[in-house]
Amino acid sequence: MKVICEDCKESFELNQLKQKALKGEIRETYYSCQHCNKKYRVCITNEAIRKLQKKIEEKKLIIRVKSKKGIKNIKEVFELNRLIEKHKKEMNKLNNKSRYESQI
Ligand SMILES: [Zn+2]
Repeated sequence: MKVICEDCKESFELNQLKQKALKGEIRETYYSCQHCNKKYRVCITNEAIRKLQKKIEEKKLIIRVKSKKGIKNIKEVFELNRLIEKHKKEMNKLNNKSRYESQI
């Protein structure tokens, strides 16, 4: 994916997101401009969010395997949607809050 840096207006290929530990269990996902090094925050995550992400990946895998065998996944799909909703809520909560704490 090609992105344009807001600072130096150069474009570069975004092929790798980096992760950095902030305080406690909070981790920041970010990328930086390959020309001027400006840092762009993608999101921050905490332990609970990362656990949810893992559960979502596991659920998706289960659904994929079961569909291949022709098994209907109504219950799993329902649970997956519930996990995704929860993940979205937690991400919003944490990432909105981080606007006021961007210097951590
Ligand atoms: Zn730049």
